[in-house]
Amino acid sequence: QQGIAQTDPELWTAIQQETTRQEDHIELIASENYASPAVMEAQGSQLTNKYAEGYPGKRYYGGCEHVDTVEDLAIERLKKLFGAEAANVQPNSGSQANQAVFFALLQPGDTIMGLSLAEGGHLTHGMPLNMSGKWFNVVSYGLNKDEAIDYDQVEALAREHKPKIIIAGASAYSLHIDFERFAKIAKEVGAYYMVDMAHYSGLIAAGVYPNPVPHADVCTSTTHKSLRGPRGGIILMKEELAKKINSAIFPGIQGGPLMHVIAGKAVAFHEALQPEFKEYQKQVVANAKALAETLVERGLRIVSGRTESHVMLVDLRAKGITGKAAEAALGNAHITVNKNAIPNDPEKPFVTSGVRLGSPAMTTRGFKEEQARAVGHLIADVLENPEDEATLATVRAKVKELTSQFPVYK
Ligand code: PLP
Repeated sequence: QQGIAQTDPELWTAIQQETTRQEDHIELIASENYASPAVMEAQGSQLTNKYAEGYPGKRYYGGCEHVDTVEDLAIERLKKLFGAEAANVQPNSGSQANQAVFFALLQPGDTIMGLSLAEGGHLTHGMPLNMSGKWFNVVSYGLNKDEAIDYDQVEALAREHKPKIIIAGASAYSLHIDFERFAKIAKEVGAYYMVDMAHYSGLIAAGVYPNPVPHADVCTSTTHKSLRGPRGGIILMKEELAKKINSAIFPGIQGGPLMHVIAGKAVAFHEALQPEFKEYQKQVVANAKALAETLVERGLRIVSGRTESHVMLVDLRAKGITGKAAEAALGNAHITVNKNAIPNDPEKPFVTSGVRLGSPAMTTRGFKEEQARAVGHLIADVLENPEDEATLATVRAKVKELTSQFPVYK
């Protein structure tokens, strides 16, 4: 049988170019990572052909005996990884995991509380254009003057508005989240307590970030960020909510589960249970710290003052460059980042005054603190001379040197 290269050269070229980009550029998008060849092997397997609506042992299709084994393995490994009572591995994405929780526990018009998008929250936590913002009454909390989550505000808002659910979790927040404090507040006001741990789940699995699972009614996550699995979502929950939430995924909002992706998740959870994964995550945190410290030495400001995780938001205003321009200049230098609003950002959301940086992908390719510091200097060099071709060429050459020394898949 012919491969894509023969049958569809146009598509093949694009795939090859993307593969090369991932090898040759330094990847600092905090929500990305490099899945292992084993994870990708599972995703490219024959399991993509199988319909398996329902759950293991209770399917609406024949021939599910082997995919039942796959899904059971994924569930058991996932529960072990986080110490969860029950788990659902079928969400096709992090957003769908969140949507299912809302579908299971809320009615349209109910009040939800989450971190505002402008201060680090996610779209699905009540952004006005998202379903969460359109169907629910959203009360957003934010950061205090030290740019830490304002737990006193969370408490005051919860007492005032009596939300049906309180969501903790963020897409661009570098500090530890006090999951226990949220739990106390939710309990006091009788709200469900949901943690969207998408960004931190790999760190949590390895014990280098606080684990919300013992405190929350339900935790959702993606599997492709710090957890380093295939693209997808998961839900961890107290046993008493399992029936409701499983029904919300299927038949509530999804049809046939992506069994090849679930196999990829099972592989990733197995990898995350190994001792090497703990070492990897410790290095993720050490690298983020080294990168942040270097940027501070070079005159940049880190939102919240520092990072205690894999992620940081960099305030670019000291260098007189916007997030949009920084993303483009760094891209020209083969360093991939995303622009991101900083708290009280004077620029529009499509321009911004910040970039978000994360260490999971560069750590997977083997970078240690020495390389993380080198990356920090390269970033500062570009931000200081974003339009100078000679600077960009020098940085590109140094990026090439680093990436060749630390190949990802080769
Ligand atoms: N939740 C958080 C906190 C996220 O950061 C993200 C992704 O950026 C999601 C949910 C959504 O995940 P997905 O892109 O898989 O829908």
